[in-house]
Amino acid sequence: MGKRPDHWGWGFQKGRPTRQQVADLGRLAGERLGFEPAEVEDGVPLDAVELPPPRITAPDDLAEIVTDDTVERAGHTYGKAYRDIVRAFRGRYDNPPDLVARPRDEADVERVLAWAGDKHVAVIPYGGGTSVVGGVEARLDDGYAGAVSLDLRALDRVLEVDEVSGAARIQAGVLGPALEDQLRQYDLTLRHFPQSFEFSTLGGWVATRAGGHFATLYTHIDDLVESVRALTPSGWWESRRLPGSGAGPSPDRMLIGSEGILGVITEAWVRVRPRPTYRASATVHFDSFEKGAEAVRVIAQSGLHPSNCRLLDEAEGRLTGVSERPMLVLGFESADHPVDVWMERALEICGRKPTSSGSGAGGDWRSAFLAMPYLRDNLIQLGLVNDTFETAITWDKLGDLREAVRAAVPHATCRFTHVYPDGPAPYFTIVEPARRGFELEQWDELKARASDAVLAAGGTITHHHAVGRDHRPWYDRQRPEAFAQALRAAKTALDPGWILNPGTLISR
Ligand SMILES: Cc1cc2nc3c(=O)[nH]c(=O)nc-3n(C[C@H](O)[C@H](O)[C@H](O)COP(=O)(O)OP(=O)(O)OC[C@H]3O[C@@H](n4cnc5c(N)ncnc54)[C@H](O)[C@@H]3O)c2cc1C
Repeated sequence: MGKRPDHWGWGFQKGRPTRQQVADLGRLAGERLGFEPAEVEDGVPLDAVELPPPRITAPDDLAEIVTDDTVERAGHTYGKAYRDIVRAFRGRYDNPPDLVARPRDEADVERVLAWAGDKHVAVIPYGGGTSVVGGVEARLDDGYAGAVSLDLRALDRVLEVDEVSGAARIQAGVLGPALEDQLRQYDLTLRHFPQSFEFSTLGGWVATRAGGHFATLYTHIDDLVESVRALTPSGWWESRRLPGSGAGPSPDRMLIGSEGILGVITEAWVRVRPRPTYRASATVHFDSFEKGAEAVRVIAQSGLHPSNCRLLDEAEGRLTGVSERPMLVLGFESADHPVDVWMERALEICGRKPTSSGSGAGGDWRSAFLAMPYLRDNLIQLGLVNDTFETAITWDKLGDLREAVRAAVPHATCRFTHVYPDGPAPYFTIVEPARRGFELEQWDELKARASDAVLAAGGTITHHHAVGRDHRPWYDRQRPEAFAQALRAAKTALDPGWILNPGTLISR
């Protein structure tokens, strides 16, 4: 029980703060945000939840790895989007999977796919279930006999390390901390740390093109993947390990970001590196966000490639309690050489003295960043809507994007999570009083306003949160129609019965 994942929030049941602690937090949050926090509400306990009976049963030869247990089905119903957490908090479980399968090896994955194909059962690949876009919810069209959530977390081992090339073959279901623990034995690291690192998996990162630790250069998992192995309903797909290749469209690139609709990723070779020993960090304050953004643009175009380059606007600084003014958190790291000279040049570009420097600089921001997912649950208990949306935009359109978002969602705070020579990835946070009992309608309105504004200003519907089901209306508008046709044809070729994660990314 102690280590059971919380059924509606982030983390484990045991770590959940008491009612009094949440109420105290409400007073603090109220002061900081200028809201009157509402009464603390408690989530509906799992014991009180009733699910519709499963529509399918597993054959005897899958009995060892398949269950219809209510706790398992409820635990695999949702990801961790705001609308997921609110529904689970209120005891509402729309579209639970009929069954949950936990394959122990690739042969088990093969057997589940073969059975599901035969019975026309939808299969939803499930990594850590941290999707924030409805990527793991079995929201299906009619015509499927049922749905099985395919939980890959038992495939959790580093299988092979090529220390000469700096690469490792790793099973897809491994969670971030276990992956890093295994690589540590070789003094190596993947250094892919999304905010959800603790509870998300390598396969999930690859399937969603996750964005991690590096603010520049290796921003997405794409840059760290050498080759991928996946099972499609039409057979195995495994690419050749290569440092680079010009041989036509990349098979890896097609699977990276495929969000479980083309195949079940079982392992990947990823690029690993020695753990950094040289580090330099600094925080710099600016009089305006625009001045900070201009400094970040020059740094991004300078070839310096900071590992951390997060610019916060004043509202984001206030929300996280780290600053009253726009603030840039800068960091450089290397396993090979001192990085102080790089930092000096970056600070020179900023044209001002750092407010703090040394290994502890930016530590307050980092702590706030890591605490945020836990805090979100408490804000929901306190009657506050709390969600994020993110995009990427070229520098020339940044001002217009900020204006458009401000007009659509005036309370949204902003930070850059990643930056490129040609533009940043702005990330927005919304906290506002909830219309209790109508949070989903409120969220749907906010989401539509924000997404329309982002698209109209020329941004992408997502830089790293993926598409899933929730971003579909905007993704469908963003992508070229000819590409949609090609993706549909590829899905039909690999998955003729459309059993893999139907409704995500594309429809028939
Ligand atoms: C608090 C919080 C912070 C977050 N921070 C970040 C962040 O910093 N960067 C970022 O990129 N994202 C972030 N996310 C989003 C989410 O964590 C990522 O999308 C992550 O990559 C999902 O991994 P997962 O293992 O949890 O996958 P799941 O949520 O289980 O699945 C995500 C999608 O991938 C598919 N999938 C999963 N595993 C496989 C597999 N082995 N084969 C085929 N398909 C598969 C699923 O079907 C689904 O469509 C955050 C989410 C939360 C809740």
